[in-house]
Amino acid sequence: MSDCLFCKIAAGELPSKKVYEDEYVYAFEDINPVTPIHILFIPKEHISGASEITSENSAVVSKIYEAIAKVAKEKGLDKSGFRVVSNCGADAGQTVFHLHFHLLGGTKLNWP
Ligand code: 5GP
Ligand code: ZN
Repeated sequence: MSDCLFCKIAAGELPSKKVYEDEYVYAFEDINPVTPIHILFIPKEHISGASEITSENSAVVSKIYEAIAKVAKEKGLDKSGFRVVSNCGADAGQTVFHLHFHLLGGTKLNWP
């Protein structure tokens, strides 16, 4: 999508600190981290949010979780623990309308 921030980041048209990339998935450091490790995982294909996942596009979600597991291990988070969050819509505070999963870790997390 031409005016989407995360589409531009995935395409390399805007700078980011890349952590992981494959054919379907791009991962990069959040610009405003809320935990010592805060990485965003996005599909390269534009999907506006979790409410727009369908049987046609859902395969990328498992690709994203495979990437999350790989990066979590690389960062040692499989030992310490981590959280994966996807905010969807106004009540959740979604601010970028391209599906993304926050990988949060490196500290003890409170809930909610
Ligand atoms: P949301 O609030 O939609 O769940 O999360 C959007 C996330 O994207 C926020 O954590 C925010 O800090 C991050 N973000 C927004 N703009 C940029 C950007 O230009 N670059 C990077 N790396 N992260 C961004
Ligand atoms: Zn997009």
